[in-house]
Amino acid sequence: MHQSQIINELAETRENYFNAVSPPIVQTSNFVFHDFASLREAFEDEMSAYLYSRGLNPTVDILRKKLAALDEAEDCLVLNSGASAIFCAVMTNVQAGDHIVSVQKPYTWAWKLFDNVLPRYNVATTYVDGTKIENFEAAILPNTKVIYLESPNTLTFDLQDLEAVAKLAKSHGIVTIIDNSYCTPLFQKPHRLGIDICLQSATKYIGGHSDTVGGVLTGTKAMIKQIFDREAHNTGAFISPFNAWLLLRGLRTLSVRLKAISESTQKVVEFLKNHPKIEKIYFPFDPDFAQYELAQKQMSGACGLVTIALKAQTYAQIETFTHNLQHFLLAVSWGGHESLIMPKCAGMLPEDFDATQQEHRLLRLYIGLEEADYLIEDLAQALEKL
Ligand code: PLP
Repeated sequence: MHQSQIINELAETRENYFNAVSPPIVQTSNFVFHDFASLREAFEDEMSAYLYSRGLNPTVDILRKKLAALDEAEDCLVLNSGASAIFCAVMTNVQAGDHIVSVQKPYTWAWKLFDNVLPRYNVATTYVDGTKIENFEAAILPNTKVIYLESPNTLTFDLQDLEAVAKLAKSHGIVTIIDNSYCTPLFQKPHRLGIDICLQSATKYIGGHSDTVGGVLTGTKAMIKQIFDREAHNTGAFISPFNAWLLLRGLRTLSVRLKAISESTQKVVEFLKNHPKIEKIYFPFDPDFAQYELAQKQMSGACGLVTIALKAQTYAQIETFTHNLQHFLLAVSWGGHESLIMPKCAGMLPEDFDATQQEHRLLRLYIGLEEADYLIEDLAQALEKL
C-alpha cells in the first residue's frame, strides 16, 4: 500500500463518525455490551472487542493500523511512552536465567532496564560494539533470548547491519528488537530485513510537535497479542485516546516534516563540516561517516540529529557556547518543530570534565523546522564567540 494511502486513508471509516475528516477522540474508559454472550467473548479475548480503554480503543485502533502498515508489520500496539515500549518488548521475551545481547550504550531507559531491573530476576546482559557482526556472534550464549539493537543510536549514530544480525539471531532462535526511533518507518523498514520487533518513541517524529509522549511496538500478530495480554496490561501502559489523536495528527505531516528536516540538516552539516572550531561531526549520511555505506544501504534518509565535537578547552566554554545560541533550545529529546542542543558534558560534574576526551566535548544538535539559514547564522555567531 502506498505510504500516502496509509497516512491519509487507511482505517478511516468516516461513515461511522458523521463523515468527519478528522477522526473522533473516543474519550471513554468503558464500553457497553448488549448481550451476555458478547461480554463473555470479550473476556475470553480482549483483543476481539472494545471492553475497556486500558486495552483497545477506537481512536487508538486507527493509529495502530496505520503504524503497523507503515512498518509492514502484522500488528501494532501504541503505548504511553517509548520507555514502556522498550520495557514491554524486552520483558515479554525473557524469563529468569535468560541472557540478552545489547548494543553498547543503548537509550538510557533500555540500559537501566538491563542493568537495574533485569538482574533482580536473574537476567544478564552483555553489551557489544554493534558495528561488527562478529561481536554479536561472540556474545551469544546458549541462554541468549534477545538481541537488542538501536540503529542508528542518537549520539554517534553507530549502526548495525540489520540483515546480518537478523540472520544470525534466527539461526539461534533469538528474538531481535530494534529501537527505530531515529529513522521512523519512513526511513528504515527493519521488518523487511528480518527484525522481529520494531519499537519507536512516538514522542519524537510521529508526534512531531513536542506536545505528547507515546511509544510504538510492531511485530507479528502472535507477538503483539502476547505483549497486549501480559506486559502491556500489567503495566497499564496503553496510550490515552487524546494522545493517540495527537499522534494521528502528527502522522499526517510526518513525510513533509522529515523531508524539510533532512534538507535543512544537510545544509547545516555542510556548514559545520569544515568549520575551524569543530574537530569532528557525526552524521550518518556524511560521506566521511565510518558506516556511510551501510547507512546508505539500509536507511532511505537521515533526519535532524547531528553531533559535533567542539574544539573547546573547558567545561565553561561549552556552557557559554550553548548560552550564546539564540535559536537552539537547551533541552533533551528531539523530533519536534524546535531546534535543540544537548551537550554530553551536561551529564557530568565540571570537575570531571577532561578536554582530552573527545566524548566530553560532544554536543548533539537537533535541527527542527526552522529555515536552515536562520539556524546556520545562529551557529555561526556562537562559534565565532568560542
Ligand atoms: N529511544 C530513543 C532513541 C529515545 O531518544 C527515547 C527518548 O528520548 C526513547 C527511546 C524513549 O522514548 P520516550 O521518551 O517516548 O519514553
